[in-house]
Amino acid sequence: MLKLYNSLTRKIEEFSPFKKDTVKMYTCGPTIYDYPTIGNWRTYMLSDILVKTLKTLHYDVTHIMNLTDVGHLSGDNIGDPNTGTDRMTKASEREGVDAWEIANKYGKDFTESFTLINMTLPSLFPKATSHISEQISLIQMLADAGLTYTISDGVYFDISEYEKRGNTYGTLSNLDSIGDKSRIEKNTEKKDPRDFALWKFFAKGQKRHNMEWNSPWGTGYPGWHIECSAMSMKYLGDQFDIHVGGEDLKSTHHPNEIAQSEAATGKIPFVKFWLHGAFLRVDGGKMGKSLGNAYTLHDIENHGFTGIDLRYLYFSAHYRKPLNFTWELLQEAKISRTHLLSLITTLNKTTIDVSHEPYFLRFMEAISNDLNMPQALGITWEMARDQLLSQEIKNTLFTSFNSILAITNNDKTPENDTIPEHITNQANLRNTLRLEGNYDKADTIRNEIKKMGYDIVDTGNEYKITRSQ
Ligand code: AMP
Ligand code: ZN
Repeated sequence: MLKLYNSLTRKIEEFSPFKKDTVKMYTCGPTIYDYPTIGNWRTYMLSDILVKTLKTLHYDVTHIMNLTDVGHLSGDNIGDPNTGTDRMTKASEREGVDAWEIANKYGKDFTESFTLINMTLPSLFPKATSHISEQISLIQMLADAGLTYTISDGVYFDISEYEKRGNTYGTLSNLDSIGDKSRIEKNTEKKDPRDFALWKFFAKGQKRHNMEWNSPWGTGYPGWHIECSAMSMKYLGDQFDIHVGGEDLKSTHHPNEIAQSEAATGKIPFVKFWLHGAFLRVDGGKMGKSLGNAYTLHDIENHGFTGIDLRYLYFSAHYRKPLNFTWELLQEAKISRTHLLSLITTLNKTTIDVSHEPYFLRFMEAISNDLNMPQALGITWEMARDQLLSQEIKNTLFTSFNSILAITNNDKTPENDTIPEHITNQANLRNTLRLEGNYDKADTIRNEIKKMGYDIVDTGNEYKITRSQ
């Protein structure tokens, strides 16, 4: 039985999905304005471990991870969700290209990096800019319900009106700082400091970032929070099982998602289980671009390490505990990983066939206990050192542990081995387009893939690639 810490109830609970054997899960993905940091990757690792665990437990998993390519202001995560500079605009200025080019460049880098760190690709990476009409429809539902108001810089969700109707806002939040505006400029037109933008207008003189749409409220672009509600509900339904993000999202982004989704559909709870990962720190302190320590996966590789060394390092702490990164710790992780793998392949002399059952059960128990990776890794070490296990049993055990750990480079499935990466990438892109209803483009890509000798068969939201006969 899988047990998970649910931020909503602040308790460890037995996991059960809405629909037996099927899990619908959403992870708040990156804003694709730069390379993700190893902090961001720590949070995506939480999703990856969870997906691999659910699949090992034979759930049919649909995992959606959005790509934010519009609307995310730098102040969005820290209390007042409507202030600060626009991340895409800032990146456009930095690189001298428009926001669309920025999104293409970093979106491609992000999705292609999954293989570097042995992460399972989500079923879909929907982009905010491909779901403008869904976001407008959702805002319209809230407007029709009398839960929005318009001021000079945008359309806002009215939290006090929401509360007046008997709803509770901010159950997830453990921050008193929703109202703490010390770090941020005030928007004096808002009715309540907690109100957040659903649709933004370009202010007079504001630099435009080349991403703007017409809406019933005027030309502008969606606020950041609405995209996650619109896209998760489109692909997973009005209510679904699991939502994952970093701990900072507990303060405003996720409470906002809950408020606007439950207000629009009237269905409670919007999501059953909310999981939040603790932050990665660097050299004992905060990680930040201005501090020069916001390392990326590319920095890791440029220092002679692999994404899988980093993956191994992440497992040294439970996902709800802070983890410190230093280059020395990464070096230790690399040595430790190599040592573990060599122990697994070192032939034991024994011929006694000791049962492997207890190791397997203990490993699954550790994983099922709120994804206790340090403990699961400890059991893997114990097994690797066990002189009484035959080589065959060691191999069998490691293969099953490694379907979750994924700490070797050769853990690809036979199916993936035969499908080149550029084909898988194209097929993934085609699937995204198909699910977004962009059938012409999707068909063009399917034909190109066909010309390269591969067939795609769609299976619900997923697909399968096979070599053409
Ligand atoms: P952002 O692009 O800033 O919205 O971040 C994308 C995801 O990474 C969110 O789920 C954040 O909570 C998470 N995140 C940001 N910084 C860190 C960090 N230092 N450690 C772990 N997760 C982080
Ligand atoms: Zn989100």
